[in-house]
Amino acid sequence: MRCPICGIEIEEFLGEVILKEVKRLWRITKEGRELADEETEYSRVIERCYCPACDAEFVMNLDEAKELLKGNAILVDKDAPMKIVEVETEFGTWERIAVVKFNNELYFSDPKQFQIIIKHNETRRMLLFLRKYPIKIKLPKNLDVEEIRVFEWCPSCSRHTYHIKVTDNIIKCEECGHKRWY
Ligand SMILES: [Zn+2]
Ligand SMILES: [Zn+2]
Repeated sequence: MRCPICGIEIEEFLGEVILKEVKRLWRITKEGRELADEETEYSRVIERCYCPACDAEFVMNLDEAKELLKGNAILVDKDAPMKIVEVETEFGTWERIAVVKFNNELYFSDPKQFQIIIKHNETRRMLLFLRKYPIKIKLPKNLDVEEIRVFEWCPSCSRHTYHIKVTDNIIKCEECGHKRWY
């Protein structure tokens, strides 16, 4: 995947997991208290991943990082144009999910739950889109989704801009029209 901050193709993340939780059981009496039992239980408190190229911090868990590297998930700018559809879930409930098309494939996200915060010089909020939504959903028939615009570095504008795909491997900057390989 490409890091959304530095634009470099990365093949790994550095993952940081903070584990904690020590449980102690005390017996409390009139005389005082004494340790009855001590058991240690570890749980993941904080998980975050870092881009090995630019050190940007992604507030996401290790599994999400793995899915991104495998191409089963993509990150999309929170404010990028995306389709919101109401779908019926396997539990008979209705949910509003976001759908984008990337490389001719559909990806799904829950805008409320799949937010990924990326901290570098500034904070960016992105959404994690999955190729396979975690629960079964019934998609509406004739769902028409446009190909997502990609947020990439434009060498002509010298900043990150939205690009549209003109062919499979060429993208065009929406600001200045500069075309380049993707
Ligand atoms: Zn980076
Ligand atoms: Zn440009």
